[in-house]
Amino acid sequence: MNLFMPERVFFDPSSLKYPLGEELYHYFESRNIEIIKSSIQNVSKLIPGVDEQQKYARSKKTLVITVKKGLKLDVCKPSADYEFSLVTNCPGNCEYCYLQTTQGYKPYLRVYVNLEEIFNTIKEHIKKENKPITTFEVASSGDPLSLEHITGTLAKTIDFFGSMNNARLRVVTKFSNVDSLLPLKHNGHTRFRVSIGTRYIIKNFEHNTASFDERIEAASKIASAGYPIGFIVAPIMVYPTWKEEYTELFDRLRQQIDLTKSDEPVTFELIQHRFTPIAKTFILKRFPGTKLDLDESKRILKWGKYGRYKYVYPKETAEEIKKFLSDLILERFPQARIEYFT
Ligand code: SF4
Repeated sequence: MNLFMPERVFFDPSSLKYPLGEELYHYFESRNIEIIKSSIQNVSKLIPGVDEQQKYARSKKTLVITVKKGLKLDVCKPSADYEFSLVTNCPGNCEYCYLQTTQGYKPYLRVYVNLEEIFNTIKEHIKKENKPITTFEVASSGDPLSLEHITGTLAKTIDFFGSMNNARLRVVTKFSNVDSLLPLKHNGHTRFRVSIGTRYIIKNFEHNTASFDERIEAASKIASAGYPIGFIVAPIMVYPTWKEEYTELFDRLRQQIDLTKSDEPVTFELIQHRFTPIAKTFILKRFPGTKLDLDESKRILKWGKYGRYKYVYPKETAEEIKKFLSDLILERFPQARIEYFT
């Protein structure tokens, strides 16, 4: 996997008041990457590209260094009590990515440099909860590992959670550059979930992310370093050879993941492929030749919050996926916890 390097970096002036902002400025200056000082409001206008496809491609190569404002954390049920961000978006180009819609018109990447303020906010939320354990998700709006070779902030965050007995961190990733995280004193307080799929899905739809083999290798290193490990199997797709390929996936996990280094059970979260009408519009504009199955007539409607709806597999297919995958998992990992299928 090639580690990401942006083609241009915007520095919001406020970011340069923080040590990490300054450090990143020197980092990019020494690499001759184009640097632009500009307020974040102007970034979209300054990204080159004449049509939607070009703008999208150039935005995904643009990094904005900024400050996280509004430090009240959102609730993140059922995955965790709260979510927070070190980065927003990621350099991956997954055709189905939910960020296509949630960050539709500004798909550039953001890095937040006010780490101490973010940590203080986390401490305040722990205090407010006053529970034995409060959990935090760090990958709801981007993939922090994808930029870790530049920022180093995920490592600092894992150390921070490692030092607290009443808080736990949850990370999700489709990247594999985990080596800098292996020697950290995580104390088992960070659960790493590797997002995984079949070779067909990763190769055809998850551009600029780690390959099938690289992700399994990364998960293997993380588990061997004693982190509690989990897998998000998503998006699950049905295509002619899906059963053979998911069997290969779980066989490989069983062969390569050492579960003896952590007392916590391995977890699996199973998410079938879904799409909304607005996501379909974005996907067809940005990936006109996509092989994604976006045929509404083969799906059923599932209603979500606020009257929004999405297309999911018909009930019988969904039941078949759930049973087939659950059996594969439990035959190979009898102690596993399957957290949900959706
Ligand atoms: S790696 Fe995750 S966040 Fe990045 S494009 Fe793919 S699905 Fe979206």
